[in-house]
Amino acid sequence: MRMKNMTQNQTQSTSANKKISTYLTMIVLIVMALAVTALLIAVETYFVGDQLAAGVLAGIGLIALMLSVFLLYQSKLQSAQVKIEVPKVMTTIECKCGGKTVREFQRGDYVYKELDVPCQKCPTTKQMITAIYREIKEKEKTFNV
Ligand SMILES: [Zn+2]
Repeated sequence: MRMKNMTQNQTQSTSANKKISTYLTMIVLIVMALAVTALLIAVETYFVGDQLAAGVLAGIGLIALMLSVFLLYQSKLQSAQVKIEVPKVMTTIECKCGGKTVREFQRGDYVYKELDVPCQKCPTTKQMITAIYREIKEKEKTFNV
Protein backbone atom coordinates (compact mmCIF):
# COMPACT_ATOMS: atom_id res chain seq x y z
CA MET A 1 0.00 0.00 0.00
CA ARG A 2 2.97 2.35 -0.29
CA MET A 3 2.28 5.35 -2.47
CA LYS A 4 5.69 6.96 -2.43
CA ASN A 5 6.26 7.16 -6.16
CA MET A 6 2.82 8.37 -7.19
CA THR A 7 3.32 12.07 -6.57
CA GLN A 8 6.76 11.98 -8.18
CA ASN A 9 5.41 10.54 -11.42
CA GLN A 10 2.70 13.17 -11.59
CA THR A 11 5.11 16.09 -11.38
CA GLN A 12 7.30 14.51 -14.05
CA SER A 13 4.43 14.14 -16.52
CA THR A 14 3.29 17.76 -16.07
CA SER A 15 6.78 19.10 -16.73
CA ALA A 16 6.96 16.98 -19.89
CA ASN A 17 3.71 18.54 -21.09
CA LYS A 18 5.15 22.00 -20.50
CA LYS A 19 8.20 21.12 -22.60
CA ILE A 20 6.01 19.97 -25.49
CA SER A 21 3.91 23.15 -25.41
CA THR A 22 6.97 25.45 -25.44
CA TYR A 23 8.40 23.40 -28.33
CA LEU A 24 5.12 23.80 -30.22
CA THR A 25 5.00 27.55 -29.53
CA MET A 26 8.54 27.87 -30.94
CA ILE A 27 7.50 26.14 -34.19
CA VAL A 28 4.38 28.27 -34.44
CA LEU A 29 6.41 31.46 -33.99
CA ILE A 30 8.89 30.38 -36.70
CA VAL A 31 6.03 29.57 -39.12
CA MET A 32 4.43 32.93 -38.29
CA ALA A 33 7.70 34.77 -38.96
CA LEU A 34 8.09 32.95 -42.30
CA ALA A 35 4.51 33.81 -43.22
CA VAL A 36 5.04 37.50 -42.50
CA THR A 37 8.29 37.43 -44.53
CA ALA A 38 6.45 35.78 -47.45
CA LEU A 39 3.76 38.47 -47.31
CA LEU A 40 6.37 41.25 -47.25
CA ILE A 41 8.18 39.74 -50.24
CA ALA A 42 4.81 39.38 -51.97
CA VAL A 43 4.13 43.12 -51.55
CA GLU A 44 7.63 43.90 -52.86
CA THR A 45 7.27 41.65 -55.94
CA TYR A 46 3.84 43.17 -56.59
CA PHE A 47 5.36 46.66 -56.82
CA VAL A 48 8.21 45.34 -59.00
CA GLY A 49 5.59 44.13 -61.45
CA ASP A 50 5.54 40.35 -61.08
CA GLN A 51 1.92 39.99 -60.03
CA LEU A 52 1.71 36.20 -60.47
CA ALA A 53 4.68 35.55 -58.16
CA ALA A 54 3.27 38.10 -55.72
CA GLY A 55 -0.07 36.28 -55.69
CA VAL A 56 1.56 32.90 -55.07
CA LEU A 57 3.72 34.29 -52.27
CA ALA A 58 0.75 36.06 -50.67
CA GLY A 59 -1.21 32.82 -50.83
CA ILE A 60 1.59 30.85 -49.17
CA GLY A 61 2.01 33.56 -46.53
CA LEU A 62 -1.69 33.65 -45.71
CA ILE A 63 -1.99 29.85 -45.48
CA ALA A 64 1.08 29.68 -43.21
CA LEU A 65 -0.28 32.50 -41.06
CA MET A 66 -3.66 30.80 -40.71
CA LEU A 67 -1.97 27.49 -39.91
CA SER A 68 0.19 29.04 -37.17
CA VAL A 69 -2.79 30.85 -35.61
CA PHE A 70 -4.76 27.61 -35.71
CA LEU A 71 -1.89 25.69 -34.04
CA LEU A 72 -1.50 28.38 -31.39
CA TYR A 73 -5.23 28.18 -30.65
CA GLN A 74 -5.03 24.39 -30.44
CA SER A 75 -2.04 24.42 -28.10
CA LYS A 76 -3.80 26.94 -25.84
CA LEU A 77 -6.76 24.58 -25.59
CA GLN A 78 -4.45 21.70 -24.76
CA SER A 79 -2.56 23.61 -22.09
CA ALA A 80 -5.90 24.59 -20.53
CA GLN A 81 -6.78 20.92 -20.31
CA VAL A 82 -3.41 20.05 -18.81
CA LYS A 83 -3.87 22.71 -16.13
CA ILE A 84 -6.53 20.64 -14.35
CA GLU A 85 -5.25 20.33 -10.81
CA VAL A 86 -4.01 17.01 -9.56
CA PRO A 87 -6.27 16.07 -6.65
CA LYS A 88 -4.62 16.09 -3.26
CA VAL A 89 -3.70 12.85 -1.59
CA MET A 90 -4.90 12.81 2.01
CA THR A 91 -3.78 10.73 4.95
CA THR A 92 -6.15 9.80 7.76
CA ILE A 93 -4.57 9.30 11.17
CA GLU A 94 -6.55 7.58 13.90
CA CYS A 95 -5.94 7.04 17.57
CA LYS A 96 -7.20 4.21 19.76
CA CYS A 97 -9.29 6.73 21.68
CA GLY A 98 -11.26 7.52 18.56
CA GLY A 99 -9.50 10.75 17.71
CA LYS A 100 -9.20 11.27 13.99
CA THR A 101 -7.09 13.73 12.06
CA VAL A 102 -6.75 14.25 8.33
CA ARG A 103 -3.71 15.85 6.82
CA GLU A 104 -2.01 16.07 3.45
CA PHE A 105 -0.07 13.01 2.35
CA GLN A 106 3.58 13.14 3.28
CA ARG A 107 6.40 11.16 1.78
CA GLY A 108 6.82 7.87 3.59
CA ASP A 109 3.20 7.52 4.64
CA TYR A 110 1.65 4.08 4.42
CA VAL A 111 -1.39 2.41 5.90
CA TYR A 112 -0.86 0.87 9.38
CA LYS A 113 2.24 3.01 9.93
CA GLU A 114 2.63 4.06 13.55
CA LEU A 115 3.39 7.72 14.06
CA ASP A 116 5.57 9.19 16.77
CA VAL A 117 3.31 12.24 16.94
CA PRO A 118 1.01 11.70 19.94
CA CYS A 119 -2.74 12.32 19.94
CA GLN A 120 -3.97 15.62 21.37
CA LYS A 121 -6.27 13.90 23.88
CA CYS A 122 -3.98 11.14 25.07
CA PRO A 123 -0.28 11.98 24.65
CA THR A 124 0.92 8.52 25.67
CA THR A 125 -0.66 6.44 22.88
CA LYS A 126 0.75 6.30 19.40
CA GLN A 127 -1.39 7.23 16.43
CA MET A 128 -1.70 5.10 13.33
CA ILE A 129 -2.37 5.84 9.67
CA THR A 130 -5.63 4.14 8.75
CA ALA A 131 -6.28 5.42 5.25
CA ILE A 132 -4.60 7.12 2.30
CA TYR A 133 -6.92 8.40 -0.37
CA ARG A 134 -7.19 10.83 -3.18
CA GLU A 135 -9.38 13.84 -2.60
CA ILE A 136 -11.82 14.26 -5.48
CA LYS A 137 -13.43 17.61 -6.07
CA GLU A 138 -16.44 17.10 -8.33
CA LYS A 139 -17.10 20.83 -8.67
CA GLU A 140 -13.73 21.53 -10.25
CA LYS A 141 -14.34 19.33 -13.28
CA THR A 142 -14.13 21.42 -16.42
CA PHE A 143 -16.37 21.00 -19.38
CA ASN A 144 -15.21 22.33 -22.71
CA VAL A 145 -18.00 23.70 -24.88
ZN1 LIG B 1 -5.98 9.52 21.44
